[in-house]
Amino acid sequence: MSMAVVEEQTGLAAASQPSRQDSDLPARVVEAVRAVLGDAEGPFPLHEPEIGPLETEYVNDCVTSGWVSTVGPYVDRLEDALGEACAVPHVFATSSGTAALHLALAALGVGEGDEVIVPALSFVATANAVTYTGAVPHFADADEWTLGLDPRALRRHMDEACVMEAGVCRAKASGRRIAAIVVMHAFGHPAEMDALQEVADHWGVPLVEDAAEALGSSYEGRPAGSLSRIAALSFNGNKIATAGGGGAVLTTDADLAARVRHLGSTAKLAHKWEYVHDEAGFNYRMPSLNAALLLAQVERLPDFISRKRKLAARYAATFCSVPGADFMGQPPGARSNYWLNTIRLNVASIEERDGVLAALIDDGILARPVWEPLHRLPMYTTCPTGDLSVSERLACQLINLPSSAKLQRVDT
Ligand SMILES: *Cc1c(COP(=O)(O)O)cnc(C)c1O
Repeated sequence: MSMAVVEEQTGLAAASQPSRQDSDLPARVVEAVRAVLGDAEGPFPLHEPEIGPLETEYVNDCVTSGWVSTVGPYVDRLEDALGEACAVPHVFATSSGTAALHLALAALGVGEGDEVIVPALSFVATANAVTYTGAVPHFADADEWTLGLDPRALRRHMDEACVMEAGVCRAKASGRRIAAIVVMHAFGHPAEMDALQEVADHWGVPLVEDAAEALGSSYEGRPAGSLSRIAALSFNGNKIATAGGGGAVLTTDADLAARVRHLGSTAKLAHKWEYVHDEAGFNYRMPSLNAALLLAQVERLPDFISRKRKLAARYAATFCSVPGADFMGQPPGARSNYWLNTIRLNVASIEERDGVLAALIDDGILARPVWEPLHRLPMYTTCPTGDLSVSERLACQLINLPSSAKLQRVDT
């Protein structure tokens, strides 16, 4: 990314420094990260939760009330708070983000005999959720700048690999229905939703957001999680807000919301005493104890985001003077929560990636590469794919840096 773009995206003017020989990238990356983190010994984990007095108060109150399981006021309060934060009318809190994604797909009617298009560059849960429904993941390529699904590559691939048959989009190779397209907002940076929605609409396929990493991000002024008919959030221990473990399904569609609620709470028919379930539903409800912790975190979310954005601006500024490594700023039109700060090594420096990681980790900076692209994992090697050359290259170029809100003091 050019310096001008970083400046525009972060509002920060970087100090201009004479560029040096590109001979010792690992040392220069460590120096740049240290300029942000200071010289404390560390270690600096990738993302640590911040648990304070408000969390303690709510969890204590929950325990004292005795309502610790899935029935209780904290689940309702949490769902209201998430609905407000994400501007969606219907929220169903779940036991994990993976469960939320599975439930979203199941509620849409995805199942055996279907294919679901998912990004190859994502956490394994995105594809696993598809597998749990009985459908087959079909991998599509990432965009160089957003790191999410590339709408242009998706359009090209679907034009080539799909066919419309009696109003149903099918993969030519397998004859299976393309039942959904899952978009993932990588590291909190929103994908190009308008262009992706156009492709999805052209084929009559619903778009689903895996917004697990993007709570508090927005795209064209609209919150992540509200950008599609149905979305999933995650609240595991390293996400921007944590429930210890948890997730949520968000939807703008009242019928779909009712379906999610029924399927996600064992498909039990409401009755004063009878135990009757009308299908094999899932026990995916979030317990109150987790909801109490998470409610406090959601109330503190604006503060977390403001500090994480300041931290990101400082990384952006120091990486302006590191030739060979670009800081990944938020895409145009988006406001990112900067869940995980990310640098992208230049193609010419790919060979140095492991050296950079080793130097960072030796210095107590617990950086990590991104995920192995999903089509290379043993259970997914035989799945259908488009051209995945950008995802494969990005997987060798990207490095995540320590990103906890607590790395940024409130008053700076
Ligand atoms: C964290 C995450 C999930 C869900 O994770 P859980 O640990 O099940 O809450 C799903 N997709 C992506 C991209 C994630 O980062």
